[in-house]
Amino acid sequence: MNGFLFEQIVFGPVKSRRLGISLGINLLPLNQKHCTFNCLYCECGWTLPDNKSNASYPARSEVYQALELRLRAMKQKKSLLDTITFAGNGEPTLHPEFAGIIDDTIILRNSYYPEGRIAVLSNASLASEKEVAEALKKVDQNILKLDAGTNETFRLINNPAGQVHLDDIVENLKQFSGNLIIQTLFVRGTHKGVSFDNTTDHEVSLWLQHIQMLQPKLVMIYPIARATPTEDVEKVPGDELLSIAARVEALGIPTEVYP
Ligand code: SF4
Repeated sequence: MNGFLFEQIVFGPVKSRRLGISLGINLLPLNQKHCTFNCLYCECGWTLPDNKSNASYPARSEVYQALELRLRAMKQKKSLLDTITFAGNGEPTLHPEFAGIIDDTIILRNSYYPEGRIAVLSNASLASEKEVAEALKKVDQNILKLDAGTNETFRLINNPAGQVHLDDIVENLKQFSGNLIIQTLFVRGTHKGVSFDNTTDHEVSLWLQHIQMLQPKLVMIYPIARATPTEDVEKVPGDELLSIAARVEALGIPTEVYP
């Protein structure tokens, strides 16, 4: 499966359940997925091995121009905008000029849509880099992924490059001192004969321990919504997601479910 890939730097705006009217920014190569993870459920398809990629990130100046052009046109048409969202064909913090692009985006947002928010959807794997972490601290919605309670399930579902351990990701998340939103996709299925499931009581209990320690502003819970690269994947029913959300709410942490 090739996955759903973006062909532009700036895309949308689209109406998003999580982010309202959202204008997307794709900092990854066009029509090619790049990520430090290779999640079994990724809508963009499988991550290309480095030796098969001809990655070419858009220049910072190109991103600036594309975003300014779109914001100016939207403003002229009096279009509404809630959020400028960094998402796209993989992990946005991989862009070597991610921090500078965030600074540019803040300037453009302030000048065209001062009431708008800036959101980044990231897997937090590069938040150990000071520049990346500092940039993420500047945005209104720092939305970071945590899909597992145990390292075993983390490695099965998120399939990170290298020897990354779940503890590394949790350490990266800790440094935001609660100034973050956790996004968690619950899923179960089988891949290459190995079962994976982050909805078991054991997984959810350990995941909740991480959540309690991190004290995020919000937890976003959702199931798969589009085609996945692995075929044997089950969409977790809404009532199960609501039960998990109730356990988060019982900790005093706001939670939203997007069944
Ligand atoms: S972290 Fe996001 S972009 Fe990367 S593989 Fe997982 S779902 Fe896809």
